Amino acid sequence: MTGTCPRDISQNEDMADPAETAILTIDLGALAANYQQLRDLAAPADCAAVVKADAYGLGMVRAAPALSNAGCKTFFVATLGEAQDLRALLPDAVIYVFNGLLPDTAEAFRASNLRPVLNSAEEVQEWAAYCTRVGDKLACAVHIDSGMNRLGLSTAEVNALASAADVWSAFTLSLVMSHLACADDPSHVKNAKQRASFDTLRTKLPDAPTSLANSAGILLGPDFTFDLVRPGIALYGGHPQRRGKNPFKSVVTLKGRILRIRDAEAGETVGYGATRTLRRPTRVAVISVGYADGIFRALSTKDDEDGLVVHLGARAAPILGRVSMDLIAVDVTDIPQDLSARGEWVEFLGPNVSAHDFAVHAGTIDYEVLTNLGRRARRLYIGG
Ligand SMILES: *Cc1c(COP(=O)(O)O)cnc(C)c1O
Repeated sequence: MTGTCPRDISQNEDMADPAETAILTIDLGALAANYQQLRDLAAPADCAAVVKADAYGLGMVRAAPALSNAGCKTFFVATLGEAQDLRALLPDAVIYVFNGLLPDTAEAFRASNLRPVLNSAEEVQEWAAYCTRVGDKLACAVHIDSGMNRLGLSTAEVNALASAADVWSAFTLSLVMSHLACADDPSHVKNAKQRASFDTLRTKLPDAPTSLANSAGILLGPDFTFDLVRPGIALYGGHPQRRGKNPFKSVVTLKGRILRIRDAEAGETVGYGATRTLRRPTRVAVISVGYADGIFRALSTKDDEDGLVVHLGARAAPILGRVSMDLIAVDVTDIPQDLSARGEWVEFLGPNVSAHDFAVHAGTIDYEVLTNLGRRARRLYIGG
C-alpha cells in the first residue's frame, strides 16, 4: 500500500468526465521519490535515468522533466529518435543512446549533442573517423560485453583496440559500460562473473567513468554500482527482482468502470469461448477495459482458475473468463453492493494490484506490462 494515496485517486475520479471509461494515473511525485531512493542506494555513484520506450510507456514528455527536477542529469534512451525528442525537452542533459551508431548517423548525434553507446569495434572506428574528419573530440560511451552476447565489444575486440592510440585520441571517452544478464536473481553466479570480466576488460581501455548496474544491479550492492548507475524499471514502480518485496513506490494506476452488474446462476458461462463456468450464483461486474488498454488477454481465466485479483477500493475481485478487447468480467459476489455499483471504478494496476502480480499472472515481466499500457485510457499526471 505504498505510492499514490487513496485521496489523490478519488480526487482524480471526481475530476473525470462522466463519460470516462478508463483512467491511467501517473504519479510524478512517486517517480521522483523512486529516483531519490535509487540515488541514495547507489551513492557515492551518480544516478542516471533510463527513459527509453517513452519512459517505459509512462510518457517521456512528462517523466523526463520530472526526473530532471529531481536532480537527474544523465539520461539513457534506446534510439536516436528517442534521443532527439529528449533533447527538445532537456537542452542541458547528458543523453546516451544504447543502440549506438548505425551507418551514416554520426552527424545527427553531433547536431543534437547526443552520445552514442558504441557497441562494436566497427562503431568505435567509425566514431573515431568521424570525429577526426570534423575535428571535434565528441563524447561517447563504449559498451563492453561481459557475458551477455548481445551488444558490446567482445574480449577479442577490446584486446585488438586496446593499443590503438589513434582511435582513443580521436574522441572523448565519457563512459565505459556493460550490462548484467541475471541481476534480477541475486544468487545467480553470473553476476559476480560479469562484474569480474567488466573490471578486467575496462582497465585495457583508457581511463573513464564506469557503469554496470541497471535497477536490479543497484540492489546487488556497492560492488556493482561503479561510477554511474542506470535504473529504468525501478523508477517506474516495477519490481527489479524476481522475489521479495518491491522496495519502490507504485507510480501507475489503471482503472476501468463498471458498465453493468448482472446476476448469473451456477452452471452458466461468462464471456467468449465459454471458458469459465460459474460454480455458484454470481454477481458479475462487466468493466470498461480490455486488452486494448494493456490488460493482457493472457490474464483470462478458465474453470476454477484463480487468476489476477483486481480491486474495488480495499476489496478484491477475481477476473472471470476471457479478457476481451474492451471488456472484462469480474466476480463481485462478495463485495458490498454500494462499492460495486454501475459507474464505480475498478483498479487493474496500482497500489493494490502491483505490476509484478499482474505480470506473473500474465506470464510476463513488469517491463512488458508498463510498455503495453494502451493509448485509449485518459492519462492523468499527478504530483508533478
Ligand atoms: C534498459 C536498460 C537499462 C535499464 O534497465 P532496468 O532493468 O529497467 O533498470 C540499463 N542498461 C541497459 C543497457 C538497458 O538496455
